[in-house]
Amino acid sequence: MANTFSVNSTTLETDFCVIGSGAAGLHAALHASEYGSVTVVTKSRLETSSSYWAQGGIAAVLNNDDSFQSHEEDTLAAGRNFCNKSAVDVLVKEGARQVQQLIDKGMPFDRTNGHLDLGLEGGHTNRRVLHANGAATGKALVEFLIERVRKKSNIRILEEAFVYQILTDRERCSGARAYLYQQDQLITIQSPVTILASGGYSGLYSRTTNPHTSTGDGLWLAYNAGAVLRDLEFIQFHPTAFYAEEGSSFLISEALRGEGARLYNQAGERFMGAYPQKELAPRDVVARQILDQIHKQDESYVLLDVSHLDADVLRDHFPNLLQKIANQGIDVTEQGIPVAPAAHYCIGGVATDLNSKTSVNGLYACGEVAANGVHGANRLASNSLLECLVFSKRAVDHAASWGVEKPSMVSPHSFDIDDHFAEQFSDVQQQVSALLTKYIGIERHAEGMRKALQAIRNIQSSLFSDEHEYYGIRARGMLHIAEMIASAALQRQESRGVHQRSDFTSPSNSQAHIEYQKENPQLVS
Ligand SMILES: Cc1cc2nc3c(=O)[nH]c(=O)nc-3n(C[C@H](O)[C@H](O)[C@H](O)COP(=O)(O)OP(=O)(O)OC[C@H]3O[C@@H](n4cnc5c(N)ncnc54)[C@H](O)[C@@H]3O)c2cc1C
Repeated sequence: MANTFSVNSTTLETDFCVIGSGAAGLHAALHASEYGSVTVVTKSRLETSSSYWAQGGIAAVLNNDDSFQSHEEDTLAAGRNFCNKSAVDVLVKEGARQVQQLIDKGMPFDRTNGHLDLGLEGGHTNRRVLHANGAATGKALVEFLIERVRKKSNIRILEEAFVYQILTDRERCSGARAYLYQQDQLITIQSPVTILASGGYSGLYSRTTNPHTSTGDGLWLAYNAGAVLRDLEFIQFHPTAFYAEEGSSFLISEALRGEGARLYNQAGERFMGAYPQKELAPRDVVARQILDQIHKQDESYVLLDVSHLDADVLRDHFPNLLQKIANQGIDVTEQGIPVAPAAHYCIGGVATDLNSKTSVNGLYACGEVAANGVHGANRLASNSLLECLVFSKRAVDHAASWGVEKPSMVSPHSFDIDDHFAEQFSDVQQQVSALLTKYIGIERHAEGMRKALQAIRNIQSSLFSDEHEYYGIRARGMLHIAEMIASAALQRQESRGVHQRSDFTSPSNSQAHIEYQKENPQLVS
């Protein structure tokens, strides 16, 4: 039944407001607690994040046979001449220090005979990927950070708290507003420093490796507050996500291919066999080849076969993953694993400098929500957890060193929830997912992208409810981000890294970024 209600409101003051509880948010909160009071606001449970789901590991130069130069070169090569070199330098050098500090504090990375077990992943020329509990690195890292965050008496945690507005006061960020689902209450968080760590937008796609929380909220929150968004067209698709008829998908780690897993189409042909690196070719190449097979064979998935590998070794290395696959009724010793590409990582986001500062004073962004140039046009595997650690600390250090101005009281505002719109919101969500998946996926062309843009604009013009209503706020935000993704992808007339077009198949040397800002509807820098 339709149900409209207005919500009670309360206010709190804090020195740092951190939005999101993935690796970036938790790490920022811990570090910020050295300088003042912190409030972590997260829309689901503390553990619900892409960070928790991260599998393979975290890249860092901790071995004498390795070098910063090598890690930088690998990152720049993966990024296809589109990285910010200074940002990569910071990532690699400070990243190694941050990871060493985690180890010193007791983070349980896997070891063999007492030595760190350093893995090799696609695109890395040296063994430098630390992992924990096999392919459950994210879970181990997040649990490690949460344990410490919970012990800090000056960190307040607000779970099930959906941030729907970033506040500004005289062109400065002054905090955020959230709706507390459990208490059915609004909360205004007044803070001189707001750190946005709300993750990516892969969850806008029908098939994704991400949890349901990755819906790009941070982008429209920051955009509405006046920040610049950048590089939204660059979305990385993981080639091998589990395929199930009913739509569920989860990541099948590249490490399985590292152990020798092979890809076959449903006619039994090993289609990556002709490539020099075979199944370990770069992610974008494997993803495109799988898509090509899916189209040619008119099937929904291809098969990843491990039946020729030692099952005991696999179970030993990937206990959680093999259990998850078994739970889907697949016996890997007898059957291929059905896989298809899925949206995995968003390179684009809120534009920041090397201190994670956005274009709005007092507002910082770090982790996957930020676009600071470390990934260029294609992310190197295991560099994103590293980015979370490095740039969350930088945000806090910068904010703390600049001193903070207490924000003035914010004015009351209206907000309501009309349950009547829940179903319509879910329809809009499905339409947006289908459009992005079909037209702004692994391979793009102008005709499809124009169709997507037009369809998105049609939905926008028929939007229900007003801009103060919960479902309306979410629908407007989602549609606006989808529109900017489609428009940026249409404008980038080249194929580079994860952005591949069938009508512009070559890369350019351009260093131009496509950017959006509320006051300047479109910028190209
Ligand atoms: C399956 C999988 C495997 C991966 N494996 C690896 C790997 O091995 N190595 C690697 O480096 N990277 C890996 N990645 C990528 C990496 O995990 C992410 O890029 C990184 O963890 C992002 O961290 P984050 O803190 O920026 O965001 P997230 O971890 O996504 O956290 C975002 C947080 O923001 C909250 N939030 C969002 N919107 C709101 C809102 N409106 N209000 C309040 N809270 C909000 C969310 O609930 C969540 O708590 C993997 C990703 C996936 C999905």
